[in-house]
Amino acid sequence: MNREELRQALEFYRDLGVTDVYRMPAPPVSPAADEFPLPVIAAAEEFRLPSLEPEGDTLEKIKDEIGPDCRRCRLCEQRSKIVFGSGSPHAKLVFVGEGPGADEDAQGLPFVGRAGQLLTQMIEGTASKEGIPIRRPDVYICNVVKCRPPENRTPQPDEMEMCGQFLFRQLMAIRPRAICALGSTAAKALLATKDGVTRLRGHWHKWRDIPVMVTYHPSYLLRPYNQNAKRESWEDLKKVLHYVYD
Ligand code: URA
Repeated sequence: MNREELRQALEFYRDLGVTDVYRMPAPPVSPAADEFPLPVIAAAEEFRLPSLEPEGDTLEKIKDEIGPDCRRCRLCEQRSKIVFGSGSPHAKLVFVGEGPGADEDAQGLPFVGRAGQLLTQMIEGTASKEGIPIRRPDVYICNVVKCRPPENRTPQPDEMEMCGQFLFRQLMAIRPRAICALGSTAAKALLATKDGVTRLRGHWHKWRDIPVMVTYHPSYLLRPYNQNAKRESWEDLKKVLHYVYD
């Protein structure tokens, strides 16, 4: 995608009243595909799985348990930084994406690249248009997998399962009023469904007892010719924001 395409995609959200135009960092150079080793996951018995949601769990404890150099799956081989999540530990709303991209991998923060800029505009633009006084730091944002998949490929089921335990603990520690699943990987991880986003979006689902709204991943919205999807994602977000903050 070139800058012109990005400009057009962002225009949609600027039309909603967002005036803040973000400066894009130069995208880091991606490692060559052939640098990625064969997908060999470390022997499962090497790692003791933590019990699901220990008593008194907190985001800090979960982060500590993941550790500074997690090697539980093959995604550790090429990642620079583990991207744990960011935002308020008391958030009423949590956004779950797929996994870090190049910018997130470099900075150790979720959704800071182009898709992140769009997500921020979606959240803040829709909230301000709807008279809901929240900014991005008021919500919590994280991913199904905490390390960047090589070449931004879709995380594999074993990687999602290994890292998903930490996502579930994050969600239980925060206990938001609602979760917004961004794209099909997040929807799969939370709802254990094979249905696609087009089918799932716009309706309420549940992860345990927490309502989940599925919507399009911002990266998908950045592609040209997705005007309808942008409109639909805006409707989805309005629904979520009113449910959580009214
Ligand atoms: N895409 C994601 O799913 N997550 C990020 O953090 C960035 C891009």
